[in-house]
Amino acid sequence: MSGTRTQWIGELVDLLRVTPGSSVTLAKDFDPSFTADFVEKKDGTGLLAESVQLLAAYQDRLAAQDTDGVLLCLQALDAAGKDGTIRHVMSGVNPQGVHVSSFKVPSSEELSHDYMWRYAKRLPARGEIAIFNRSHYEEVLVVRVHPELLQRQRLPSETKGKDIWNRRFAEINDWERYLSDNGIRVLKVLLNISKEEQRLRFLRRLDIPDHNWKFSASDIKERQYWDDYQRAFSDMLSHTSTRWAPWYVIPGDHKWFARICVGAILVQALEEIDPRYPEVTEEQRQQEAEAKTALMAEAPPGAAPDPFGG
Ligand code: AMP
Ligand code: MG
Repeated sequence: MSGTRTQWIGELVDLLRVTPGSSVTLAKDFDPSFTADFVEKKDGTGLLAESVQLLAAYQDRLAAQDTDGVLLCLQALDAAGKDGTIRHVMSGVNPQGVHVSSFKVPSSEELSHDYMWRYAKRLPARGEIAIFNRSHYEEVLVVRVHPELLQRQRLPSETKGKDIWNRRFAEINDWERYLSDNGIRVLKVLLNISKEEQRLRFLRRLDIPDHNWKFSASDIKERQYWDDYQRAFSDMLSHTSTRWAPWYVIPGDHKWFARICVGAILVQALEEIDPRYPEVTEEQRQQEAEAKTALMAEAPPGAAPDPFGG
């Protein structure tokens, strides 16, 4: 699909990528209210529509080529807009080619397995796009912020030392490397909202009856751990943005901008994969000609043998 590439997509994606190997501090290095000056709000709807259209076309080819898969991991604090982003960005895509998995508090069956087990079961097949609404990164975020969750994982005591987080970072990097070597492209997006924007969105949930269901009392409790999460995010970004699976930090305070960014990241990845419809071989062409002759011969009296062609 060369020729359809739009300049702004590449520019935007480059801006959002966390340079592999760099050491970052979320609060200092990433402004949640940033918007790029070459993407204006009045063009927002049009730009999102452009990536939705490109995505739909690429996804069709991805499925037809059937060699590569795409995994998009979305991480964020509550009310950052994960669900809305998924809904908008994937709105034009054939539902058969996309799987969304939401990861909640692990079940007792899930806790009986190694920590990657439940994520591995939800990986995309070749030709598919999978979206993780929360992901294996919860294992170095919520589980790190709340040590009692680590206790529930029933790990052998010698594996629970101080180096556990660095070990998990290395394990995650290796796993993603393995996936990428197997044709599964891993994209990781952190929707980064400010504490003030989260406060406003929680209040909105409380004040607007239609939004009430989205509010959960535990969200307010979790908000008290804001600084711990910021630290855990910073450490995660500094250790797991890799050449084969980079992190993108998306400014989340402006929803219109965040959606455009996520769309752009997916389009850019698919553009790099550049999936093609398989070429028809001489043998297939022959079989098609024979099938056509046979179907035409079955036409009832008076009916056109082939109303669509010659
Ligand atoms: P939500 O996505 O708002 O429906 O909430 C899901 C909840 O599950 C969040 O509070 C997450 O922190 C929590 N959660 C997700 N993954 C894990 C995990 N591996 N261990 C413990 N809690 C988790
Ligand atoms: Mg929630």
